[in-house]
Amino acid sequence: MIALYAAIALPITFNFFDFSMAQTFYSAPDTTGHFGSFGGKFIPETLIKNAADLEAEYLKAQHDPSFSAALTKLLRDYVGRPTPLYHAERLSKTLQGAQIYLKREDLCHTGAHKINNALGQVLLAQRMGKKRVIAETGAGQHGVATATVCALFDLACIVYMGEEDIRRQAPNVARMKLLGAEVRAVSSGSRTLKDATSEAIRDWMNNPEETFYIIGSVVGMHPYPMMVRDFQAIIGKETRSQIMAQAGKLPDVITACVGGGSNAVGMFYEFLQYAAQIELVGVEAAGEGLNGRHAASLTLGTPGVLHGAMTKLLQNEDGQVQEAHSISAGLDYPGVGPEHCYLQELGLVRYTSVTDSEALLALETLAKTEGIICALESAHAIHYAITRAPEMAQDAVLVVNLSGRGDKDMETIIRELAL
Ligand SMILES: *Cc1c(COP(=O)(O)O)cnc(C)c1O
Repeated sequence: MIALYAAIALPITFNFFDFSMAQTFYSAPDTTGHFGSFGGKFIPETLIKNAADLEAEYLKAQHDPSFSAALTKLLRDYVGRPTPLYHAERLSKTLQGAQIYLKREDLCHTGAHKINNALGQVLLAQRMGKKRVIAETGAGQHGVATATVCALFDLACIVYMGEEDIRRQAPNVARMKLLGAEVRAVSSGSRTLKDATSEAIRDWMNNPEETFYIIGSVVGMHPYPMMVRDFQAIIGKETRSQIMAQAGKLPDVITACVGGGSNAVGMFYEFLQYAAQIELVGVEAAGEGLNGRHAASLTLGTPGVLHGAMTKLLQNEDGQVQEAHSISAGLDYPGVGPEHCYLQELGLVRYTSVTDSEALLALETLAKTEGIICALESAHAIHYAITRAPEMAQDAVLVVNLSGRGDKDMETIIRELAL
């Protein structure tokens, strides 16, 4: 038992940036930041130096054992890693199918996986001597994670947030303020995440010298999609050791929800080498249904440029970006990380979608069978597991990445379930 635990604990000599397992089979992006035809750097000239400086510093940090050690120590003592891999026995028994395991990112400090990435990036900001941090946020989870790490490192923090989201996510706005961040309301466009992101990019262009831009998912211009994936890859690394220790075998199916795609790629990356034997399934938000308003950019989107990268997005024939819809603010984004487009094209990951009402139902089922109130985002992946498990053998293993907890969604849950 002690030996097994040692394998999954995080000694500070652990090389955070050893992706040799993941890279035995798959290696992307290329040196220009392309994942096949996706990704890249579609940015104005004034941002080119910023992005290049960031990439250079990140590549240097990867080879600096003190960076890896500092990050690993914070992930262990501040975030609470490794997060447990929990065998949901009662849910599995109820469904009479595969054994379901939940990777408990909901138990991370601040309630979701976003802190893993925010810590990695704030350590880079510190290395680069930046005193001012900016971020964009939709639901407010990334804003809270960024405000948290800025408090910890004594950095000025400005969070751009759409007016509509500020109204919908009042408790997270209060959290950010309490942590010392300034929340700047964005009133352009649909006044949501897409507009807040555009505003943050504008700020970065105007204040390149002193500012570090912490992006919250595997989106945006190179090197962000690669860097954010690397910071989240700890999820899959831990899961691999944990499932070997607990089930004695690799999973048969692994699923995660996809907004921008950071928790999903963080979970999948380590397992891509086994793509021939493990089914990897990303779950997008189908909102009111694929015929109505939704956020299923991989399922129904078309190639286009959004926030500095070539990706798949929801747009009309004139290339106007359409408004996305999901009951979960974290999945409510008209684009997706470029790497997911590539993984879909290569057939390494399959993508499906789950509606608002299906997600709510799954959230309720998980609460009543396991005593876990998950985030509405994560509930999309739970719904997939609930429909898939009964089709699988009882000795099969299905892992779900539980990306966050439901506290932030209580207002929506109370309204929708008439509690
Ligand atoms: C932000 C968020 C997501 C969506 O972001 P990804 O980059 O797709 O992971 C999913 N779940 C939770 C709990 C979130 O806060």
